[in-house]
Amino acid sequence: MTTDSLFARIARREIPAAIVYQDEEITAFRDVHPVAPVHVLIVPNRVIPTLNDASAEDQALLGRLFLTAQRIARELGIDQSGYRLVMNTNGDAGQSVAHIHLHLLGGRALSWPPG
Ligand code: AMP
Repeated sequence: MTTDSLFARIARREIPAAIVYQDEEITAFRDVHPVAPVHVLIVPNRVIPTLNDASAEDQALLGRLFLTAQRIARELGIDQSGYRLVMNTNGDAGQSVAHIHLHLLGGRALSWPPG
């Protein structure tokens, strides 16, 4: 499995990004092309290309992505108004970066179903 990606480089601070949270396992930063007033990407620091590549060993890490999203939603003041978490996988979903990432979207009413 690859060990490098655009988002791994952001996590290592080799590429600039508006980082809103970081610890030894996870980095969260503003999406460069936001589609909502709040659009944050939450990624593991190490590369897992798609959710299909995750295994039982990644269970705690995947849980931490969600708890980090919960924390950021609260800190950015959208926990009560509402927010959406999205993880795109492969072509039909439009995944464009081969490093799993949770989109945290909020700050406006989000339509359903998605396009
Ligand atoms: P996805 O289409 O689910 O793979 O989402 C990839 C997201 O990464 C898109 O919303 C892009 O706007 C975003 N993105 C790509 N490059 C960067 C970057 N350098 N910094 C922040 N976000 C990025």
